[in-house]
Amino acid sequence: MISDLVPAILASMLDIVLVVDPDGAVTYANSRLPELTGFDPEEIVGQGVFRLVENGDLETVQHRFEAVQLGEDQEFEAALRQTDGSRIPCLIAASPIVGMESYLFVVRDLTEAKSMQAQLLQAEKSAALGRLVAGAAHELNNPLTAVLGFAQILQEEADDEDLQADLDRIVRGAMRARRIVQDLLAFARQQSPVRSAVDVNETLRGSFENISRRIRRSKVTLEPELDSSLPEVQANAHQLKLVWDNIMSNACQAMAPQGGGDLRVSSTHMGDVVRVMFSDTGPGIPMAHMSRIFDPFFTTKGVGEGVGLGLSLCQGIIESHGGQLWAESTGGEGATFIVELPSPPETTAAE
Ligand code: ADP
Repeated sequence: MISDLVPAILASMLDIVLVVDPDGAVTYANSRLPELTGFDPEEIVGQGVFRLVENGDLETVQHRFEAVQLGEDQEFEAALRQTDGSRIPCLIAASPIVGMESYLFVVRDLTEAKSMQAQLLQAEKSAALGRLVAGAAHELNNPLTAVLGFAQILQEEADDEDLQADLDRIVRGAMRARRIVQDLLAFARQQSPVRSAVDVNETLRGSFENISRRIRRSKVTLEPELDSSLPEVQANAHQLKLVWDNIMSNACQAMAPQGGGDLRVSSTHMGDVVRVMFSDTGPGIPMAHMSRIFDPFFTTKGVGEGVGLGLSLCQGIIESHGGQLWAESTGGEGATFIVELPSPPETTAAE
């Protein structure tokens, strides 16, 4: 008999099923509800249905419930709240139950669908941006090579000192533009380059050398604390150095206006993760900027000082290595950038 099956069907459903009376009190909830929200069944049955709804969506759900009471079917998105305060985005179908003064709510958890959608959108955006940037960078490369090449030829030929100084400015400007173009190309070309077993400390020392001039110029004291027993990671050493260079030159740029500071760089390993931390004593990152610093083209620097691609490039590189990069900063007390790279447990010869 189908009626025998109903309780089993309701208990097996992936969606939450709720029956609500005209006062908005829950008269039935299947077991999905406590599973998803964490509320005990006693806390739900007999209580108002609206307490399950996230505050921000309360008004929407109330309006929809009024419409259902007038006999209309409704389908809409709203978030439920969990006992721990977190929100669950849901798709809710609500309708009057035929022949009864009760209303049926079928609620589907959209958490996974939403996160997939966001990931897809992000991937599409990155791909489109990558193509755009690669195209523009290629177009810029040719004229830039000509400017640089001919300015250098003229430099060899010109005897006049003023002219030499002007040419020097052109060459320096063109070189800076070339570096930006190279950054843009590196950003666009986040494909998977060749990887091998890499000693992270080695790449850090390489970067210390790369940016030593900038460190001196900004009066920054470098304090390396490198764990000599780090396991190797599977990585592209060139890309890792690019990440370290970027993070450290940002720190130098942040501390330069205050006349210098300290930059502590540590490497450690915990379980199957190698962690690299860069802590500076600069002005830190305002809360309002925290969520945006990894966005392409977000910069607080003046024209010619930054294009806002550094951190976005760094994050792309670290994520393509299966790792994570994030920032921590309590305004005014410096900034810390943390990179974690997976280091698979060492395999034995037999394996
Ligand atoms: P750019 O350096 O070209 O501005 P990035 O993507 O490297 O681009 O950095 C984005 C922004 O993040 C910077 O403009 C700056 O506001 C902020 N930022 C990065 N590193 C630091 C730091 N160590 N201290 C304070 N702010 C920082």
